Order: sequence, then C-alpha cells, then structure tokens
Amino acid sequence: MKSNFCGVSPALGYRASVGQTEQFKHFHPTPEHVDTRSVAVRAGRIDATLIEARSIFTPASGFMADWDYTLNAYSGCGFGCNYCYAAFFARDPQRRDTWGDWVDIKQNAVALIHRFCRRKQLTGKSIYMSSVTDPYQPVERRLELTREILRTLQPEQPRLAVQTRSPLVTRDIDVLKRFDVAQVNMTVTTDSETVSRAFEPHCPRNGKRLAAIAEIVEAGIDAGITMTPLLPVDSPERFASDLVATGVERFVVQPFHPGKGRFVRGTGPAAVALADEMRWTEDRYLEVVQVLRAALPGLQEGRTGFAPPE
Ligand code: SF4
Repeated sequence: MKSNFCGVSPALGYRASVGQTEQFKHFHPTPEHVDTRSVAVRAGRIDATLIEARSIFTPASGFMADWDYTLNAYSGCGFGCNYCYAAFFARDPQRRDTWGDWVDIKQNAVALIHRFCRRKQLTGKSIYMSSVTDPYQPVERRLELTREILRTLQPEQPRLAVQTRSPLVTRDIDVLKRFDVAQVNMTVTTDSETVSRAFEPHCPRNGKRLAAIAEIVEAGIDAGITMTPLLPVDSPERFASDLVATGVERFVVQPFHPGKGRFVRGTGPAAVALADEMRWTEDRYLEVVQVLRAALPGLQEGRTGFAPPE
C-alpha cells in the first residue's frame, strides 16, 4: 500500500467521550462538527479524530501510476501492522512512532466528492481505495463513512478497486454490486494465525478474510487476493488449497518491501527482526511462491497485479 498522502488539516479539536461516536452513526455531520474543524474521540484502543480534509482524490503516481486517483477516507490505520510503511507518510514523527494507535476521519469526504463531481467527470476513471490506509477501519463499522462514499460514487460509475483486509467489506456487497466495474481485493498474508498475531496483531484473522472474499465471489463481484506482503507460511500446499477454495482467480504476491527510492520507506525494523527470527529468508519466500504458482494460474507478482480493472 503506497501512494501519495491526501492533504488534511491539522487536528485542532477538543476531546470528546466515547459515547459521542454514537452521533456519527450513518455519518451525517452536525453543525457542531463543521464548526470545530476537528473532533477527537476515543474509539476502543484507537484515538480517532474527525477532521476536515482539503481534498479526497489524489492523482495517482509511482507504484499506482496506472490509476487515475487514490481515495483515502481515513489517514492513519487502526490495524497497525508492524511491517506497514504507510506510516512514513505521517508528517509528525510522533504519529509515525504511534502508527496503529490513531486514525483521522475525513468527515467531509462525501461533500468533497460532490464538489469534485461538479467540476470533473468521474465516469470511467479508475479509483483505488485505499492506498495508505484500510477503508474498513475498526471505526467504519459504526461510522459507515466508506459505505456512504461508495453510495456517492456509484451513480458516477468510476472503475473502482477496494483494497482491504477486513471482512466488514461484505456489509457493502449491495452497493458494490451496483457498480459496472468494481473489484474487491482482500489482503491475506499467511496460513498461520500465530504468524499473523506477531506481525499484524490488530487485524482480522486471515481465516475470516478468506471467508469474506469467498462471499464476495459468491455475490458475483470481481475479487482478488493480495498476499502483500507474504508472511511466513506453515504449509504452502494447505495455504494454496485454502486460497483456491475461495473461488478467487486473481492473486498477487510480494515479499516485504525493500525500501528503495527517494520517497519510499522499507519494512519496519520490528518486522524485519521477526522475519529473521522465523527464518523467513528470500529462499524460503521463493520456495513458497513456487508452490503457490503451481496451484494458482492467476498469480502475479508486483505492480502488474495492481492494474486497474477494465
Ligand atoms: S492495514 Fe494496510 S495501511 Fe493499515 S497498518 Fe496494515 S499495511 Fe498499513
């Protein structure tokens, strides 16, 4: 997950109680929200801040250059994977250090889409949601911001990809089915829940992700599985068979990010140390990919796997 960072206004708001999140249900910002520019709330273990963003579509570039726009309704990420290099895009070093503990919610995202559509056409444009966060943050269950964004985009009929690791995406199958061109990509990283707990302790279980993407396939929506990055795998054969069982035919695999280039950050040191401890070497990665390649004819590697849907 790597792309430009949508510009957002700084958090200037006041602290509010957890109960206040109730008023965000279905996300109809009240005048108080608009007036304050940002409101911070505690949502479980996450510091969630409502902010006013300056823009919602970012012209895609770099790794995502084949796309027209990336769309990030949130910045920060409550899943907090220890290998995540999106943390690099946080401007404040303190926020980089606490990546995974906070999320900013672009409360005016829907208004920004409406404003954009008054000036430009979205029909047929490719939109990747999301590049530096997950659109199905833990707070999304209550906020329904991503759902509202999908409902707003649907009449415009862009070519949409939703990239997530949350089974919550199945909630929005009804909306996704109304897009002419939409794909859902589920990140699945390993067959081992122990490995997953070590690298991505706050993410939904990989088994639940597999069940969710099978449901997306069942609904007739274009579905892919992205093993990005591929973490240590216990049994490549069993893993391949679990992947095939979902009914998905499009797969992408990548190793840990090497961190080359001016604006690119590599995998975090904690994740690299864990991978060493688990003997997740380049040779072992290649061995596993070989097994996957034999079982998954649609397997692609790297950027070609992230081409926009036609
Ligand atoms: S879900 Fe994606 S954006 Fe969030 S921490 Fe994990 S890798 Fe980073």
